[in-house]
Amino acid sequence: MSNVTVCVRFRPLSLKEKKVHGDSVCITCLDRESFIFKDEKEEDLPFCFDRVFYQDSAQADVYEFLALPIVQDTVKAINGTIITYGQTGAGKTYSMEGLGILDCDENKKGLLPRVVDGLFQCINSSPEDIKYAVKLSMVLVFGYLFDLSKDNVQIKENKSQGIILSGASEMPILNTEEALKCLSRGISNRAVGETQMNVSSSRSHCVYVFSVQRESAIDKRVKTGKLILVDLAGSEKVEKTGAEGKVLEEAKNINKSLSSLGNVINALTNGRGNHIPYRDSKLTRILQDALGGNSRTALLCCCSPSSSNASESLTKLIKTPPRT
Ligand code: ADP
Ligand code: MG
Repeated sequence: MSNVTVCVRFRPLSLKEKKVHGDSVCITCLDRESFIFKDEKEEDLPFCFDRVFYQDSAQADVYEFLALPIVQDTVKAINGTIITYGQTGAGKTYSMEGLGILDCDENKKGLLPRVVDGLFQCINSSPEDIKYAVKLSMVLVFGYLFDLSKDNVQIKENKSQGIILSGASEMPILNTEEALKCLSRGISNRAVGETQMNVSSSRSHCVYVFSVQRESAIDKRVKTGKLILVDLAGSEKVEKTGAEGKVLEEAKNINKSLSSLGNVINALTNGRGNHIPYRDSKLTRILQDALGGNSRTALLCCCSPSSSNASESLTKLIKTPPRT
């Protein structure tokens, strides 16, 4: 069985799509796992995933299906990765963060705050002879790596060692409240970092690493589960962004890292003990020990349901034929 779960989430049509472009919804729901997509040539294409979240899906359902099992494993020292993928405006950050980290309407809370809640719930209900220590690191990945945990954002680049997060700070987190404050600060620093480095917010990957160390009081054994959440850069074609010069170079790098991630995930899901090209990008290097092996991975492909936008996301992501 593959340890990779692939889901699709369609957001509701935006006002602009409805009113300005007169777009219509180009997907027809078949069931929880499959749908028909009408492409630009009006052809009906069937798609099948581990789960499809339609326009009315609740944030809680997305969390329960794709994140909760991974959270429960992290506390048992099994690594995991949760990734949001898709074009800019498709709903990656909405799915990851929700409408803000602090003071968010319960229904609008995204994966990050729910993951934090879930981690501490698991920790608080585990046997007393196990002691836990949770740490959080946040980095922004484009050509450079940015540490998001500090007030003064710093560039960290580590070419010689290869272990990319070695320079990033790890913040000890004692409870849900602290974790949310930390995340919220990091997310504001993301905006500062992006402005300072002149990268558009859709052209960098945001990586959140929860490291959960458990020590058994009985045999003193220490094990660590790492849970990584990634809000990926937009997957649109570079030409669409109208970038030039340095910005264009950066955009190309980002697209390269997205295709290396695609290659790694394809190699993992085709699973025949073949070579996994982790070393092809910084992004895949960061994820190396939380993707593959006995780690669990969930990929949420976010899509607009509108005819003019969905085809690129879908056709790019899904190389495997529908299972029907
Ligand atoms: P991305 O991060 O992929 O660029 P966003 O998450 O910022 O896209 O989403 C774009 C807009 O659509 C935002 O205003 C967001 O609040 C809204 N949105 C995205 N997904 C949903 C959803 N499932 N339900 C309601 N609104 C959504
Ligand atoms: Mg976003």
